[in-house]
Amino acid sequence: MLDLRPNCEHCDKDLPYTSTEAMICSYECTYCKTCALEIFENVCPSCSGNFVERPIRPKKEIERNPASSKRIFKPKDVQKTKLNSDRYKTIPPEKR
Ligand SMILES: [Zn+2]
Ligand SMILES: [Zn+2]
Repeated sequence: MLDLRPNCEHCDKDLPYTSTEAMICSYECTYCKTCALEIFENVCPSCSGNFVERPIRPKKEIERNPASSKRIFKPKDVQKTKLNSDRYKTIPPEKR
């Protein structure tokens, strides 16, 4: 089950469980679309994997299985992540 983290790790934008703007990597590092796709160019700054859209959790499910309320806010050094993105962005995710 996904944590459904409540915010973007890089810019701290709110990403509630109903958000269609949340992107996650396989470790569930969570970013808004702008950070994931425009700043990091679909390369996770932590694991270099790709991002996919995080599904919403329907309202009727959320009481039984609540979303995480633990905010993780660790802005990245964009100069460093750019080097990493440049290295991996042209490699298709399945070959990284
Ligand atoms: Zn963001
Ligand atoms: Zn990652």
